Amino acid sequence: MIAALLLALQLSAPAELVIRSGARVVNVPVTSTAAGPGVRADLLGPALGATMRRLPNGHISIAVGGIALDVAEHLPFVAVGDSVFPLAIAPVLVDGRLVVPLQLLTEILPRVSRALAYDSVRDELRVTDTARVRGATAVAAKPPSSAAAAEKPAAPPARRAQRVVVVDAGHGGPDNGMHGPIGEKTSVIEKDVTLAVAKQLATALRARGLKVIMTRTTDTLIALSDRGRIANASHADLFLSVHVNAANPNWKKPAATRGFETYFLAEAKTEDAKRVEAMENESVKFETGVHAPKGDPLAFIINDMAQNEHLRESSDLAGTVQGTLAKIHPGPDRGVRQANFAVLRTSFMPAVLVEIGFGTNPAEAKVLASKLWQTRIAGAIADATVSYLSRYERRVTTATP
Ligand SMILES: [Zn+2]
Repeated sequence: MIAALLLALQLSAPAELVIRSGARVVNVPVTSTAAGPGVRADLLGPALGATMRRLPNGHISIAVGGIALDVAEHLPFVAVGDSVFPLAIAPVLVDGRLVVPLQLLTEILPRVSRALAYDSVRDELRVTDTARVRGATAVAAKPPSSAAAAEKPAAPPARRAQRVVVVDAGHGGPDNGMHGPIGEKTSVIEKDVTLAVAKQLATALRARGLKVIMTRTTDTLIALSDRGRIANASHADLFLSVHVNAANPNWKKPAATRGFETYFLAEAKTEDAKRVEAMENESVKFETGVHAPKGDPLAFIINDMAQNEHLRESSDLAGTVQGTLAKIHPGPDRGVRQANFAVLRTSFMPAVLVEIGFGTNPAEAKVLASKLWQTRIAGAIADATVSYLSRYERRVTTATP
């Protein structure tokens, strides 16, 4: 249904957006991108008095309509204070200029800003409170959270009926992850397999009535700390990270190792868990420039207390995922393991990392590259998620008198 709605939005995208502020009318052209209709952010300056500035973490803060929006290239989310809204398309650079989705102006801004209203019949964005819009620049100077606290809409979107699951496709962009199999032509590149499985998993979870947020939907690098931040800011209930394993080339028969394993966050217990931990945390070395986690004003302070509370839940979730995968996976069950993954460290919710198979093994590489198997693996993880959540739901209900 969501896909149909998006399609309808695409088809009915106007050629331009009318922005009316009192007697002043500005027509902003709609840019069509491969993913959907967008609007050049720099054109919002003259039309809406919007201002943009690049934050130290490479994100872009857009002050408009009395609120501050935090967006980043290739990230299909917009943060407004503590709330995160999924975007129909990720902001992209077109000829060196940032293009934000049209949906941001027609749907999200009117929802979060009291100074703006959208008339879908006329494709017209109206400034209903010019004083507030003129004051936008002053608001932009404050950090996003305080801006949101001052400008919280009457009905904040924080209240939700659905459980929210964050699906994280491991690696991406210049970080390929592992590749394999050993001794054969490369058929598995981890970042491609994780994205394909993550997309299938998102579809499977949505079909089971859950709300899904993906950390990436394209071949792009998302900093490990940003992946956790997305999960936290969206107030998600669960975090699932999908990866492909690689055998240590120093093993006696590295190509022979097969199987699947599920990790939750804790000190690495075994040498083998330490190997996987080191391998997955390697991604950090690709995080230079705009995606560097350093100086991220939204970076979360690691809180051991919060993590410990989720340890039991995470281990339960990991056990459920592993047990459900065991029913369909051809490889041996390597069990539930513990390791200190950076990607899990910053998400304050039950979080697991699934190594869905060894891309270094020729037989398993075939499984991992197969659409059919990707769908089956995603379906099993989705089933496990639902079964974990229903148990969790019962625990919560019985715990509250
Ligand atoms: Zn990986």
